[in-house]
Amino acid sequence: MTVDWKQKAKAYQEDYLKDLRALVSIDSERDDAHATDEFPLGPGPAAALAKYLEIGKRDGFKTKNYDNLAGYIEYGDGDQTLGVIVHADVMPAGEGWNTDPFELTIKDNVAYGRGTSDDKGPGLAAYYGLRMLKDAGIKPKFKIRFLIGTDEESNWTGIKHYLDLEPAPDFGFSPDAEFPVINGEKGNTTFVTTFTGEQNGEEDTEFTLRSFKAGLRDNMVPRDAFAVLESDDNERVSDDFTKFLDTYPVSGDSQVTDGGLQIHVIGKSAHGMEPDDGINAGTYLALFLSQYRFTGDAKHFISFIVDKLHDDSRGHHLGINLTDDVMGDLTMNIGIMRYDIKDGGLVNTNFRYPKGMGPADIMKGLTAGATGGQVSQEDDMGPHYVDASDPVVQKLIAVYKDLSGETEAKPHVVGGGSFARLMERGVAFGALFPWTKNTMHQANEFQPIDDLMLAMAIYGKALATLNE
Ligand code: ZN
Ligand code: ZN
Repeated sequence: MTVDWKQKAKAYQEDYLKDLRALVSIDSERDDAHATDEFPLGPGPAAALAKYLEIGKRDGFKTKNYDNLAGYIEYGDGDQTLGVIVHADVMPAGEGWNTDPFELTIKDNVAYGRGTSDDKGPGLAAYYGLRMLKDAGIKPKFKIRFLIGTDEESNWTGIKHYLDLEPAPDFGFSPDAEFPVINGEKGNTTFVTTFTGEQNGEEDTEFTLRSFKAGLRDNMVPRDAFAVLESDDNERVSDDFTKFLDTYPVSGDSQVTDGGLQIHVIGKSAHGMEPDDGINAGTYLALFLSQYRFTGDAKHFISFIVDKLHDDSRGHHLGINLTDDVMGDLTMNIGIMRYDIKDGGLVNTNFRYPKGMGPADIMKGLTAGATGGQVSQEDDMGPHYVDASDPVVQKLIAVYKDLSGETEAKPHVVGGGSFARLMERGVAFGALFPWTKNTMHQANEFQPIDDLMLAMAIYGKALATLNE
């Protein structure tokens, strides 16, 4: 049967936008302050899940809700299960919007609103792919479960609850990233190194570090860093700092405060999965301070950052650098650095690592490198990889090339993590196209309607092709 999927998608545009409007109007940010037994993540995520299920039921599908945490829309029957995993929750809207983030606004054929790009727009486009398949009378040889999680942006509570009760789908995709096909995701692990052994250095010194503060999240490159230090000669330190700013790619200022001289370094923020896209204000501040003689924890804290972490996103100085042929480099982000004269120091490092190594190797490197420090592991998600020769990858890439016209498209590996990793043969697939700006998690999030319609056609054809 030949189906013109692009043409077909057009006929669904009005219905799609109506449903998208309903989904966007629900503020489905995880809301622990209003969590109850009935709504463990707060009412918003559950309401968005209910909306999805209501849409599925309306269109004649079987649906199921798992305790307001996850649910599915099901089509077909068979021993194997194809999973299409989306999420109904959204990031907090934040500041800086020109329109109401929870009202779908269409301007110049572009849809604005929280979730239009991550993940309500793409998720609903994939659902419409399923609806088109059914309306075209195509019966799948396997069971298709369109799975809806409600906590992707935090702890994956919803989809993990589903997986506690049901087996994982055998293969499938998650429309929660970008096109063409992402067939590998690096491992992701976080370590905390603390320095709390010798608060008071025994030697006399002309410099005392009172506090140091950089970074908000383990997966972001810190833009700002602040230190307060006591010294006999503030003027000299200020002059040194001016010279430092002339030499290095950071800006900043210094000022005398009640607690001592405050130094502020400004770098550039970036996503922690590629620290080279940013400039880490924290490690530069440590570099500046390293020209003075500190003692005890302050000394260990600064030396660790400067000698083992600074300007070394691939972990060479820790001896843990590794490049895998298909998954690429290990990357390291130094997301949070704190020191306080009473409590000591803390350095939070987040690693994205390829196959061929594990958190134990990283632990070894950090432990050897952190003189005077204690290293502990926070969490870990192993690497995920589906071979490029797998029929799932092959079929999806072929559909993408055919309908997008991007004939050179190839599958690739990223440092981020999506629900795709929950399926042994799962890949991330759309819906951000290479020609469209990524506005996920940002103010004024958008997705062009033509992109959404093209994604819908791709998802419809993808489901039909996986069935062949
Ligand atoms: Zn997402
Ligand atoms: Zn997201």
